[in-house]
Amino acid sequence: MSLTDIGYVKRLMAAHGITFQKKFGQNFLINPMVPQRIAEECGARPCDAILEIGPGIGTMTQYLCEMYERVVCVEIDRALIPVLGETLADYDNVTVIEGDIMKIDLAALFAEHFQGKNVTVCANLPYYITTPILMRLLESGIPLDNITVMIQREVADRLCAAPGTAEYGAVTAAAQYYAEVEKLFNVSAGNFLPAPKVDSAVVRMRLYRDRPVKVENEEMLFRTIRAAFGQRRKTLLNALSAGMGEFTKPELSEAITKAGFSETIRGERLSVAEFGTLSDVLWKKKTQKTTD
Ligand code: SAM
Repeated sequence: MSLTDIGYVKRLMAAHGITFQKKFGQNFLINPMVPQRIAEECGARPCDAILEIGPGIGTMTQYLCEMYERVVCVEIDRALIPVLGETLADYDNVTVIEGDIMKIDLAALFAEHFQGKNVTVCANLPYYITTPILMRLLESGIPLDNITVMIQREVADRLCAAPGTAEYGAVTAAAQYYAEVEKLFNVSAGNFLPAPKVDSAVVRMRLYRDRPVKVENEEMLFRTIRAAFGQRRKTLLNALSAGMGEFTKPELSEAITKAGFSETIRGERLSVAEFGTLSDVLWKKKTQKTTD
């Protein structure tokens, strides 16, 4: 029986005595075209492995198990584990781990399950925690090929945004530092049970093996980005001055000019590469200051 059949999903959940948990962002897919398309377009090859976050009752997991050699799922809701035992019983290439993706030791998980494999993350992410999950995956340093996720449409648009647009922000610059981000397709709220209040979109992030933007110090890059967007309406100079207390305003002004920008520019106009240039000038200034 199909896991996208509403009647079947309700009977399955009733049989296990469970209900949808809002606190875990549970909106399950009920249109088979969507999980199939995400699984097909996630960027993995048949011989690759998949890490699925939040399998729910296993709707997309079944497609992933059919298409890829190895699938490991991490699900926070203990009550769903026996359901997954039932819905995934026909597959011998899947492992379900009960856990919180924000807390799980990703390096240990990789060492245990993904030795020698190329890994793609595939997920219909819970809305309440989308950005923290993406940043954890990107910053963890674990070797991923792609992260293909369904997220709130607004967040998807932010991740793909170009400098100078209203959607462009700190998360955009951070994501685009690690990956080539592409929106694949939109998914309306009616494709889920229960229907969420917002529409969704699927984005694929192809992680760079060799990052096009190289910086002296990553921490300085991210601090610069955060400070630039911390006070979005201000000029870059005033925003950095408010957010980077270790530099004086004249020092920041000199750094902005040295990096090739006008003093009146706003941070939202800078691409990741330009933030990289500015961050290197600031890093040099900082190291000079500490050695003086
Ligand atoms: N993959 C299923 C689907 O597409 O129908 C369910 C998607 S539902 C939007 C999000 C899933 O993530 C739920 O199963 C929820 O319990 C799980 N989840 C929520 N927070 C989590 C976390 N921190 N770690 C792991 N799973 C989580």
